[in-house]
Amino acid sequence: MIKVKDLHKSFGKNEVLTGITTEIDAQEVVCVIGPSGSGKSTFLRCLNRLEEITAGEVMIDGVNIADPKTDINAVRQEVGMVFQHFNLFPHKTVRDNVMLAPRKLKGESTQEVRARSLNLLEKVGLADKANAYPSSLSGGQKQRVAIARALAMNPKVMLFDEPTSALDPELVGDVLAVMKDLANEGMTMVVVTHEMGFAKEVGDRVFFMDEGKMVEEGTPTQVFDETTHERTREFLSKIL
Ligand code: ADP
Ligand code: MG
Repeated sequence: MIKVKDLHKSFGKNEVLTGITTEIDAQEVVCVIGPSGSGKSTFLRCLNRLEEITAGEVMIDGVNIADPKTDINAVRQEVGMVFQHFNLFPHKTVRDNVMLAPRKLKGESTQEVRARSLNLLEKVGLADKANAYPSSLSGGQKQRVAIARALAMNPKVMLFDEPTSALDPELVGDVLAVMKDLANEGMTMVVVTHEMGFAKEVGDRVFFMDEGKMVEEGTPTQVFDETTHERTREFLSKIL
């Protein structure tokens, strides 16, 4: 589903990704961990070209998104993204937030989208909030709306950048539960997270990044319990 070949990304003279090569299968859940500033967000943002790619190749379901000829808006419809801060439209209801993109970008009928948005809100446990405004929701509820909103486009891949980092601890579980359901349904997911419990339980593979490099990729057991990489061990010893 995702093929990355020798991906480089620089901001000016600062090379932030220094040649990343990896593949992610359809239906796989990959959790990306690593120290602050190691390039995790930049890596994720290169997967839907929210960042211009300096060199290398990123293929999403057979389409090279680094190619300037690629219609990037079409690709972004296939790759949903959820951020640390939810960025909901404050003057629109929860349901209208979910309906907006499919109506605007895909030109789907209001009726069609309305039915699907209710299903999605049910899926994230917020059917009763369809007519509420974002300001009346908790952070965890807002994030679940943001997930429903991304799913409304029927993406093939979902990217999550620290989706629970801004939440109060007691609200994290509900969001992770929604993500786990999504994983169990077979969604291809790339999740930057500090939730090591989630990575162990739900992740098929864990990527450890440091200083713009993919230091190691492995199963959760390989990375968390059996790593032979000094940098991984050092990082884990600080957070576990
Ligand atoms: P992480 O998500 O692992 O904390 P980031 O991908 O956000 O790391 O950042 C990696 C490096 O790239 C950092 O040194 C950061 O300062 C730099 N960086 C990220 N985004 C930009 C940008 N838009 N302009 C300049 N430098 C950036
Ligand atoms: Mg980040």
